Amino acid sequence: MCRHAAWLGAARSLARLIHEPEHGLLTQSYAPRRQRYGTINADGYGMGWYDQAGGEPVRYRRSVPIWTDANLPGLARIARSTCLLVAVRSATVGMPIEESATAPFSDGRWLLSHNGRVVRDAVRDLADDAESACDSAWVAAAVFQRAQAGLGLGEALAEVVVHAGEKDPGARLNLLACDGASIAATVWGDTLFHHRLHDGVLVASEPLDDLPGWQVVPERSLLTVTRDDVRVQPL
Ligand code: GLN
Repeated sequence: MCRHAAWLGAARSLARLIHEPEHGLLTQSYAPRRQRYGTINADGYGMGWYDQAGGEPVRYRRSVPIWTDANLPGLARIARSTCLLVAVRSATVGMPIEESATAPFSDGRWLLSHNGRVVRDAVRDLADDAESACDSAWVAAAVFQRAQAGLGLGEALAEVVVHAGEKDPGARLNLLACDGASIAATVWGDTLFHHRLHDGVLVASEPLDDLPGWQVVPERSLLTVTRDDVRVQPL
């Protein structure tokens, strides 16, 4: 199971998700505290952020462990945005380890990360094509296809998760997506938390620090975050 995190609010640096918090994604890559499957997230990492709200995101993905990329700390300190998404990966057995299998996946202004696993047959009929044979790439393609057809990001996530979850009862489908102005995330088999701060909202597989205020998002639910609303609905 991978770990992912996102921010929506006042502009902040990627380092605020990765390096600065005691249990940011750098620490979560080798010492996650709530991870139910797997113990280390060393099969790559990726991040996406928006230069200006409404535009397409900038994306940076690597298939190496996050702690080996000596260029990252400087980049993460400088890259700032009102909407950020970062993921560290623990590849599911049988999945390729390559940049195109690493979150965040992207299409237009959308970014998406997947914590979990799902069998091929449960997602292959939901999308025409995907950039990698990795299950997460197919899940992302299925969501993007629905978002392109006009569904809201939250509705697109919900439709894909419920459909794939019905076809594969063992699937784990924690998705985290954003479009520069909102975040949507599902809880289906693993942990998810959100934290409201005075200048924005954090969403993460597990808390980035031990400060009070982290809220558990319940199993089988959809979380949607905008600048002025945080909503949790059952799936
Ligand atoms: N199944 C996905 C992959 O192989 C996600 C893995 C995970 O959540 N650990 O990359």
